[in-house]
Amino acid sequence: MDRRLGSKVALVTGGASGIGRATAIAFARNGAAVALADADVAGGEEAVRHIKTQYDARAVFIKVDVTDAESVKAMVRSTVELFGALDMAFNNAGVPDRAASLHVSTQENWDHVMSVNLEGVWHCMKAQLDHMLVAGKGAIVNNASRSGLVGVPSDGVYGAAKHGVVGLTKAAAVEFAAKGIRVNAVCPGLVETALTRARFGDELVARSRMANPLGRMAQPEEIADAVVWLCSDEASFVVGVALPVDGGATAR
Ligand code: NAD
Repeated sequence: MDRRLGSKVALVTGGASGIGRATAIAFARNGAAVALADADVAGGEEAVRHIKTQYDARAVFIKVDVTDAESVKAMVRSTVELFGALDMAFNNAGVPDRAASLHVSTQENWDHVMSVNLEGVWHCMKAQLDHMLVAGKGAIVNNASRSGLVGVPSDGVYGAAKHGVVGLTKAAAVEFAAKGIRVNAVCPGLVETALTRARFGDELVARSRMANPLGRMAQPEEIADAVVWLCSDEASFVVGVALPVDGGATAR
């Protein structure tokens, strides 16, 4: 096992499923202790059991609702109490747009998508930065999306939230770089997860053929590897990027 993150502590939100689960596993595989946080208790506990058995890693599940600032503060506090540090955070919990099109999007859809996908990331960054500023070091990666870089049809509200995540990432990156904290974002294209299965249903496979020059969707592990790299010392000079991990979708 590669132990390049040995002795470091990682926190992953939305770790019960999809990209978050794969990233929590990748952190553990690389030797980090992992706090896996999610609103889904059963999924989160199962993922932690898997990590402990497969990777002999230190891992704990923490229940969180990222839309609730107090719940997020408690998540960061618990991570530091349990593991003694917080070195790396992946702010990943997210939900799909429920609207078929921007002009029929409801207030409820706006509130839901914004509160999880944008405000949730803000809550997480605030609580993590409070800790990392005292420690004088840390790496944060936010999960944006290709929809945070370009306009994607039927993703209007989601895209607005994800452009906001890129904005938060860049502003924090330039503000906190000199204090030892690197902040970056990943911008995945189409990834095979519960979120995309729910959003696109039977159309998913056909859609993935057109989604990018590779002609396929990503597996969650392919995003996880980019996140682990951005958090590692190998990315020590990488600050404030919104890194497309999208099979070339935004390049064309
Ligand atoms: P997923 O549905 O598999 O996982 C999302 C996780 O977030 C779930 O475990 C869910 O319980 C958790 N979650 C949702 N709301 C929460 C809340 N309020 N508090 C705490 N946890 C909450 O989805 P995924 O595809 O792995 O998506 C993860 C992230 O990646 C999201 O931010 C999504 O927007 C982003 N993303 C996904 C894709 C894709 O194609 N799948 C592409 C680009 C970006």
